[in-house]
Amino acid sequence: MHIAILGAGAMGSLFGGLLAEAGHRVVLLDVDDAHLRAINQDGLRLSTDAGERIVANLAAMRPEAAREAADLLIVFTKTMHTEAALNAARGALGPQTALLSLQNGLGNAERLAKFADASRVMIGVTTWPADKHQPGRVNSHGAGTIRMMSANGTPTPALARAIAALDEAGLACAADADVWVAIWEKVAFNAALNSLCAVTSCTVGELTHVAEGEALALAIVAEVAAVARAHGIAVDEAHVAANVRHALAHHRAHRPSMLQDVLAGRRTEIEAINGAVVEAARRKQIEIPRTQTLWTLVRLVDARQSE
Ligand code: NAD
Repeated sequence: MHIAILGAGAMGSLFGGLLAEAGHRVVLLDVDDAHLRAINQDGLRLSTDAGERIVANLAAMRPEAAREAADLLIVFTKTMHTEAALNAARGALGPQTALLSLQNGLGNAERLAKFADASRVMIGVTTWPADKHQPGRVNSHGAGTIRMMSANGTPTPALARAIAALDEAGLACAADADVWVAIWEKVAFNAALNSLCAVTSCTVGELTHVAEGEALALAIVAEVAAVARAHGIAVDEAHVAANVRHALAHHRAHRPSMLQDVLAGRRTEIEAINGAVVEAARRKQIEIPRTQTLWTLVRLVDARQSE
């Protein structure tokens, strides 16, 4: 397949590198010129549990330089950059191009559907981790999975092809008719731990330093689960709460991506996480005071960053 990765940071480079290693024709599209230069000069240096190696059989360029329609385009920008990126990457979009988002948060399918017929939009969640500290170098340690589906819920040949490509690249990918449940459950987890860490600068474990910290995180999970249920999505609140408790106990030193963004002076994905839940709650006239307060607080932090 000809696969374009739009937003080739930590996750996009990992996925692009593994798909290129599996034999697909991959182009990485990004606006980080230092990263593009490093990849074009020296290849992409990938460090995973399989070892460290250089992936050289992929192209890297800015989105506006893309000229060839991809069979599959995977969006891996942060959520607030999706539309600008897709606008710039129109050269990679043809009448048959399937679009996939595995980004965090809500609203990804709707953003992609502005650029392709809804039948060609696919959506999902991934638990693969990745980070990038230097241009041209990406690390991912530990295992993960991908669960995905067509955004309209109808399986298509394009969905089957994308799943096969990702699975054969070692990314443990499967179709999931309940993908919206998985998406909302991840949003509930992130709405609690990402936003609390972003405003307090606490690591995940430091949220337990006062007795009310865990209770606050679990109350946010309950709020998000209530909104999901009001929209007909059967989120398993007890399952998410158990994941939150597990993270508080065992991933104590972890700094969630939203805190990493704050510390690096970057904007966060708060609008697609707490912000989108607040909007979904408003449509059902549900009060979610804690999630809404965290949304406001993180936006204040974001606004300070961009002054
Ligand atoms: P990242 O910041 O490392 O990568 C985003 C990339 O998008 C950057 O390289 C940036 O230069 C690029 N970009 C920004 N604007 C662009 C534009 N207009 N056109 C093209 N490229 C543009 O972020 P990430 O950690 O790879 O996360 C990507 C998405 O995946 C996010 O939604 C995140 O929540 C989600 N996610 C991340 C992880 C993880 O472990 N990193 C895990 C699961 C899901």
